[in-house]
Amino acid sequence: MQTNLEHNFLLSAKGQLADKILRSCVHCGFCTATCPTYQILGDELDGPRGRIYQIKQMLEGQPVTKATLSHLDRCLACRACETTCPSGVEYSHLLEIGRSEAEKRVKRPWSQTLLRKTLLAILPFSARFDSLLKVARLFRPVLPYSLKKKIPEKIALSKLTLKNHSKKMLILDGCVQPSLSPEINHAARQVLDAIDIEPVSFSGCCGAINQHLSDEDNALILIKNNIDRLITEFDNGIDGIVMTATGCGAMFKEYPFLLQYDDAYKDKAEQVASKTFDLSEVIDTKVLKTKLDLTKDCIAVHTPCTLQHAQKQPSSIENILTACGYQLSVIKDKHLCCGSAGTYSITQPKLSQQLLQQRLTGLMVDSPDLIVTANIGCLLHLNSESTVPVKHWIEIISDNLKP
Ligand code: SF4
Ligand code: SF4
Repeated sequence: MQTNLEHNFLLSAKGQLADKILRSCVHCGFCTATCPTYQILGDELDGPRGRIYQIKQMLEGQPVTKATLSHLDRCLACRACETTCPSGVEYSHLLEIGRSEAEKRVKRPWSQTLLRKTLLAILPFSARFDSLLKVARLFRPVLPYSLKKKIPEKIALSKLTLKNHSKKMLILDGCVQPSLSPEINHAARQVLDAIDIEPVSFSGCCGAINQHLSDEDNALILIKNNIDRLITEFDNGIDGIVMTATGCGAMFKEYPFLLQYDDAYKDKAEQVASKTFDLSEVIDTKVLKTKLDLTKDCIAVHTPCTLQHAQKQPSSIENILTACGYQLSVIKDKHLCCGSAGTYSITQPKLSQQLLQQRLTGLMVDSPDLIVTANIGCLLHLNSESTVPVKHWIEIISDNLKP
């Protein structure tokens, strides 16, 4: 695609990158066919090719309207378009540049600004989120069903006695997961212990919420803080960091890209990304299989976009479950996003619900007994409307560990 970006913008690192990405798009439209928002809305401007074109027009100096901002807001950043694109267009990087520039050029309605600021003031801070959730749980019995189903009940966890192992890996707590679903990391600790890895807690937020709401400065503060603490841990003999939320894993693996122009951090960011592993990447199925006593449940796997499209691992969960002997159900439209997408279910509730119903239909075609996934946001979103239980896949494994 030919481009003619604004001169001053083109001189910046962001401008150079946007120009390179725009020029790599040949406008073929293959990506449109797999875009969840295009499939629902049927508008070219709500598909990847249309969004690329709108970003190009904006960066070339043409007027930007609230409609442009809405079309960019409606993108899930699911990256299904990147998986489909034959030209390797780095759409997600262009989207972040486009969103950040659109924010500067178009004023949002005050209600949207307030909602985004509220999300940024609460979600990345686990203590603040935990306090709010405690209050919400107090009022849970009197809340309408539509709200009640979004607030999971507190679960009592058993006390774990784990062994010492020579291989030690950090396990990220994350920002909202410790309050909403502490059972996920509890299960992961038991399974890691069973395959001779010693799990060590690591607190903190990966920075994805800030980054995706165009709050890049605060995202960088969180990211650099994580990097500094992790380098110290690695220097002290820790072998790596394991992610039980694929959204956080995808973000950690983006650190080298986000810090590529920062001389003080780019090498450290590479080191951190090279030692970041999705939970599915550290499971040794040969060892694990011998420690399981399987149930006969038929399981549908929802692979989060942050695992299949961002981390390019479309089948890692299925591969582990199949190798361990579980029975998997057939599903439809595996590439589609469930509509959770970070804060999307809050900022775009109507579309998010449509995507959720579509995804559940695809997951239920073979009448599974339960659905498993790998990201806290997807899990809670699917669980809010699913007629069968939705769990993290590691919980199924830990439930089946032999005593
Ligand atoms: S992003 Fe890729 S698939 Fe989509 S129009 Fe451009 S080149 Fe074609
Ligand atoms: S990231 Fe997802 S929603 Fe956004 S344009 Fe690509 S496929 Fe569509």
